Amino acid sequence: MINRLIASTLPLLPKRFVWLFSRSYIAGETVEDAMNACQALNEDGIKTTIDILGEFIQNLDEAEKNRDEYLALIDITQSTGIDGNYSVKPTMFGLLIDAEACYNHIREIVAKARNYGNFVRIDMEDSACVDLEMDLFRRLKAEFPESVGLVVQAYLRRTLDDLKDLMDLHTPAVPLNFRLCKGIYAEHARIAFQRHDEINAHFLEDLEFMFRNGVYPGIATHDKALVDGALALIDRYGIPRERYEFQMLYGVTPELRRSLIEAGHTLRVYVPYGRHWFGYSTRRLKENPKIVNSIVKSLLLSR
Ligand SMILES: Cc1cc2nc3c(=O)[nH]c(=O)nc-3n(C[C@H](O)[C@H](O)[C@H](O)COP(=O)(O)OP(=O)(O)OC[C@H]3O[C@@H](n4cnc5c(N)ncnc54)[C@H](O)[C@@H]3O)c2cc1C
Repeated sequence: MINRLIASTLPLLPKRFVWLFSRSYIAGETVEDAMNACQALNEDGIKTTIDILGEFIQNLDEAEKNRDEYLALIDITQSTGIDGNYSVKPTMFGLLIDAEACYNHIREIVAKARNYGNFVRIDMEDSACVDLEMDLFRRLKAEFPESVGLVVQAYLRRTLDDLKDLMDLHTPAVPLNFRLCKGIYAEHARIAFQRHDEINAHFLEDLEFMFRNGVYPGIATHDKALVDGALALIDRYGIPRERYEFQMLYGVTPELRRSLIEAGHTLRVYVPYGRHWFGYSTRRLKENPKIVNSIVKSLLLSR
């Protein structure tokens, strides 16, 4: 109840106040802020994936601006020698307005990253986007087999079937590379598991499928039970260190992050930045008021 109230009140409050909630998990507004955040993470032995904030745009002019911003980001990141790749949200390039225009924009971004020997991951958005984003991935993977990855969401009832379908794109020489997360959007019980224990069980089932089939997973969670479950699977299947990585969000559960690095696992942090942090923060909180708890906890811990 209180979480829901805070989440729905935040958009009405002054931006400066909302920034108090947002600053611990957004790198800042500018590309320099993002570079500084990535540099600091790299110095701690952490890889990054950089995301420019923005999603669900209203017109295709915005899509072009977003594409240009990503193309500039890639040049800047590569010139600073940051150890990081890129994450993109297709609705930021007009996925729901003109899927072909969106494909062309993301294609340019992937081509640029590929020219630097780098990699772009397509984030998974709400359930209205899943088929479109899988199609997008299929097309890009055919042209840039080593330079593109996808996210899958363990809360969706369809995910294990999707993983099986996508295996036709997998080869041992160029394995599929999927980030596995729980899923952040509010989805109907018809299509998504709702209970924590059900989501966690499916997360581990999806991850086990990936390990058994040689897929490279980005294990994206801050849930200690899932981290422990993943470590148990890594042990059981004897998965070498270079065949998986853990991923976490900027500013979240730094102690858990540290324990994984100290144990020698690869860790990548998702670094979001940009002018659209206000819309992003308030929308995320409204979609999933439970996050309020986590943020309040992390605010208290950061004092
Ligand atoms: C690298 C990465 C990329 C992601 N990409 C996508 C994507 O493309 N599509 C998508 O739908 N979802 C994405 N997510 C979000 C994901 O789906 C979950 O909503 C989110 O990670 C919370 O789930 P959890 O596994 O950490 O478990 P939870 O049970 O939700 O959280 C476990 C604990 O982690 C901490 N925690 C979790 N989230 C936060 C937070 N935001 N702030 C502070 N503390 C927190 C809390 O202590 C909490 O108790 C991504 C997550 C990560 C880590």
